[in-house]
Amino acid sequence: MTSTTLGLDLGGTKIAAAVVSRGEILSRTQLPTPRTGYEAVLGALETAARELLAEHPEVERVGLGSPGPLDIAAGRVIFAPNIPGMEQAPVARDLSARLGLPVVLENDANAAGYAEHLYGAAQALESSIYVTISTGIGGGVFVGERVIRGVHGVAGEVGHMTLLPGGPLCGCGQHGCWEALAAGRAVARDASHAYGFALTTAQVFDRARAGERLALRVVENAAYYTGLALANLLKAFEPDGFVIGGGMAQAGAFYLDKVQAAADRFTEGFPSVKLFPAALGTDAGVIGAASVAAQQLSQSTPLAPL
Ligand SMILES: [Zn+2]
Repeated sequence: MTSTTLGLDLGGTKIAAAVVSRGEILSRTQLPTPRTGYEAVLGALETAARELLAEHPEVERVGLGSPGPLDIAAGRVIFAPNIPGMEQAPVARDLSARLGLPVVLENDANAAGYAEHLYGAAQALESSIYVTISTGIGGGVFVGERVIRGVHGVAGEVGHMTLLPGGPLCGCGQHGCWEALAAGRAVARDASHAYGFALTTAQVFDRARAGERLALRVVENAAYYTGLALANLLKAFEPDGFVIGGGMAQAGAFYLDKVQAAADRFTEGFPSVKLFPAALGTDAGVIGAASVAAQQLSQSTPLAPL
């Protein structure tokens, strides 16, 4: 049996696909994500997959990373906030039927984090927690070769930890989640409120770097809540390290030093939070999806005939 698998990363704007062997990308392709509903998305996934399968007929397994929430056991997307028409979409079953290959569905943040855990920033670590901080906050918890999913796949949804009861409303319907306090959207919201006009997250960071006090306060406030969240995760799991990915992490030391300082404050008397910037960039999604398929299906051999 080959270790070469196909990874698909379904995003809000593009579908990325790659043939992956032990963390190395052998071949890749990309398509825009259709905005016209589930059938079109399924068709685009099939097109991307077939293009690569033609070059690599040895591939026997497919991993699909998708935004969620998902019903992992049923291989179904419950809904995808940024992709129209994905409500209750049985995408793993349907894609498997079209390709004649087993398809494993995984949460996109879990997939990216798994790639970082096995082949990226955390490859030397036994246990790691991945946190991606972009518009929202996602994550994953990894021990050895395992992804910790929880009974309903909620494990790793670290962005929805409540850090400020009664705080700002989150997209999940709760108030005061980490994501609602410290992700890119929250930074833009807080700065726009403070300045009295609309600012993007990137503009807020530019102004903070230039030393503008209002912008700096907004960035420091976001870093404070992120440090608090990481300190809480440290006490719950004490992983060897935390891999930080996503757009906000690209602000580099200017931002991560502030996060570290806040985390240190909340871990006084405890082991410290060790931060590792994500290493695989946008490839993490496809590498992770492929790796989840390789790992999961190798545990359930022999493969069930389709
Ligand atoms: Zn939330």
